[in-house]
Amino acid sequence: MSKGFPSVMTRLIEEFCKMPGVGVRSAQRMAFYVLEAGKTDVDSLTSAISEVKKNISFCKECNNLSERELCSICSDTKRDSSRICVVEGPSGVLAVERTGAYNGLYHVLLGALSPIDGIGPADIRVSDLLARVGKDTVKEVIIATDFTTEGETTALFLSRVLKKSGVRLTRLSRGVPEGACVEYADVGTLQRAFEDRKTM
Ligand code: ZN
Repeated sequence: MSKGFPSVMTRLIEEFCKMPGVGVRSAQRMAFYVLEAGKTDVDSLTSAISEVKKNISFCKECNNLSERELCSICSDTKRDSSRICVVEGPSGVLAVERTGAYNGLYHVLLGALSPIDGIGPADIRVSDLLARVGKDTVKEVIIATDFTTEGETTALFLSRVLKKSGVRLTRLSRGVPEGACVEYADVGTLQRAFEDRKTM
């Protein structure tokens, strides 16, 4: 892929290529950045990578990123534990938090259903969501999966399996454009989508 480069350079390019959304050209640019950057910057980059790997894991309650067993949201007693907002990934939590429109808890699915790719309910964190919803404290589940085919499939599936739990089920309103990811929606749009959420 990068013929003519020393093998260690090729190896670095190949490593960058494994990252989501990074093609060969970007990977080469990143490798040249590393080559030309000062030692302090490179040390800082490598230590940031290893620190994340060493210290960050998933919250045992909601699957959000956390440095402890419970994430900062789950361990905050001021949060409204009667509501759970379901998002696909940890960046969904960040996006909703930025709106300031929500004070409940979250559940991160760490994925979305995609029958074409063979991703079924057992591949995402559905069963632990059902266990959480089964507790008396939960009164509303807000489904904030993306407005993509996968996100909509997931929302529909969740509405079916959660129906018998008796909790109020809501979905963010269509303020978020079709095909859009929650994490990229602007703060105002997401805030309105939250306030205008519809009962499923
Ligand atoms: Zn948590």
